Amino acid sequence: MTEAIRFGIITVSDTCFNGTKVDTSGPRLKKEVSEIFPSCKVVETALVEDELEKIKNYLETWADNGICDVILTTGGTGFAERDVTPEATRQVIQKEAPGLAYTMISRSLQTTEMAMLSRAVCGIRKRTLIVNLPGSEKGAVECLGFIKRGIPHAVDLLKSFDENIKAVHSYMQNKRPEDRDKKIEKDSISPSKVKMDSVATRSRTSPYPMLEVDEANEVILKECSPTLETEAVHFENALHRVLAEDVFAEEPVPAFRASIKDGYAVRSSDGCGNRYVKEVAAAGDEPFKDELKEGEAIRISTGAAVPAGADAVVQVEDTTVVETSADNKSEVIISINSLPKAGQDIREIGSDVPANSLVLKKGDRITPAHVGVMAMLGKLEVKVFKRPSIGVLSTGNEVKAPGDQLKPGQIRDSNKPTLVSLLKKYHYEPVDCGTVMDDPTSVKAVLHEAFSKNDVVISSGGVSMGEFDVLKRVLVEDFGAEIHFGRVNMKPGKPTTFATFVYGEKLKKFFGLPGNPVSCGVTCLLFVIPTLRYLERSTIYQFPVINVQGSLINRDSRPEYQRVQVKVDSGYFVMKSTGNQISSRLNNLVDANGLALVISHQKLTNFNVLLFDEISC
Ligand code: AMP
Ligand code: MG
Repeated sequence: MTEAIRFGIITVSDTCFNGTKVDTSGPRLKKEVSEIFPSCKVVETALVEDELEKIKNYLETWADNGICDVILTTGGTGFAERDVTPEATRQVIQKEAPGLAYTMISRSLQTTEMAMLSRAVCGIRKRTLIVNLPGSEKGAVECLGFIKRGIPHAVDLLKSFDENIKAVHSYMQNKRPEDRDKKIEKDSISPSKVKMDSVATRSRTSPYPMLEVDEANEVILKECSPTLETEAVHFENALHRVLAEDVFAEEPVPAFRASIKDGYAVRSSDGCGNRYVKEVAAAGDEPFKDELKEGEAIRISTGAAVPAGADAVVQVEDTTVVETSADNKSEVIISINSLPKAGQDIREIGSDVPANSLVLKKGDRITPAHVGVMAMLGKLEVKVFKRPSIGVLSTGNEVKAPGDQLKPGQIRDSNKPTLVSLLKKYHYEPVDCGTVMDDPTSVKAVLHEAFSKNDVVISSGGVSMGEFDVLKRVLVEDFGAEIHFGRVNMKPGKPTTFATFVYGEKLKKFFGLPGNPVSCGVTCLLFVIPTLRYLERSTIYQFPVINVQGSLINRDSRPEYQRVQVKVDSGYFVMKSTGNQISSRLNNLVDANGLALVISHQKLTNFNVLLFDEISC
């Protein structure tokens, strides 16, 4: 059994000890330890002056009496005469652990050259690991961060927790090199509780009842309550997000009377006939202060402010020049040839958007036009609903990254890239949580990591009836998850699984999609995308369904979602199958923009087709 790691923290400082300074590093380290290792305890803290014997005394007492598994010291590692923490440490340790000191120095050098002066010593006394950290609060926390991943495993090695050691090794070996840097928590690397059944005696029927697709979606809705948390974003980054506030116009648009045409601003009461051209008003010019008088006109361009006194704009096409200046360059008198009406070609103040009016509604999904309206109103920051954070992972001993060299029997992972791209298409920002082998402890570790960072985790593979399909059992036995469904009456996608459980006080949602690439894509469309949209906005999302004629046959007993290509021909929808519908054949999704629901063994000529992509003509 794993026990909580017991930490001891010693602040070594003359000034803190004699009260001229307050010890902030010790308390900060204590807080940091409990955040990094939530299930561990800080059992001892001490404040000691820079005295070799006194430091040694603490180290020996806590190590020899088995009080602490890890002792962190902060302070006394500098070049001052009284800085003796490394010397005290060296005198008590029985084995050095130079890798820890090396890690801290090499990582610190990336930030400051002065890390070259570090004298930290790390080592082992009996079954206790002793680590010297710098005295400054920032340095101590940073250095602890650099070595935190090694600490649980070091403690396991010291205490010979065989099972934990095996779990870490299995986890590290099963992860791709780029995933290895990710944080590992102590509880995430304890072994899974799942004991693999003997193949001969395992159950040969699924314990999960078969749900219809609609029932499965109802179950999901029932189990997911949107949190509707909000965040403020800059309006230019708000595209595709959902508005969490009504947006009102603080000012009228236009804010001044604006000309709709290039022409002349006039008084309509002057009627047709000659006008003296007084001034020019270009767009962007400050509005004229003087009122337009009888017989006057102002040459005006589209978007310019109409001067006071003018109540009509006459377009240039309806005018002629009567008299020009001596150099022939400017107009002096023009003639208005069509009778102006009051208000003609003027956008009155607030005629587009009245002041204080509601312009954009809470719940709207933000389109480019919404962004434009926000720009127009000067609404620079807008409240939107937070999107769920999503982790995506693949499972399977045979599954390798697309760039890996394949051995016989191995395949390239096409599911994760498909899922990630599909989610991005719907404007989510999924995180790659890696690929995990089909062994319960590795699955447990990867799920821990995925759930620690995401609200929703989507995996592919490992949910069928095979002896290596361990996902459901790990979820139930290690996470206490409730599997709401584990089988759906559909083709492709029968093993689709949905589970929830509370992790870190949050309700996590898990979708276990089938491993077959087409099944994976289809079930993501049918179950995952609508759920994510519901979680974001709390309204039920459905893809459009159209009725299309065609000749499709389903020889299976389950309702089948056949991949089809829908087109518009002479104003009518037409569709054709994308070919062989076997669920491993990903190409049959490539040309598809629709899923035609084909009920088994029925001769139909009309089908409901769910459109999930654009229709090209
Ligand atoms: P499973 O659901 O794990 O039983 O896998 C069903 C089928 O899908 C097997 O042929 C797997 O090799 C294949 N498969 C599983 N995961 C992936 C993946 N990430 N990419 C491509 N094929 C996969
Ligand atoms: Mg598998």
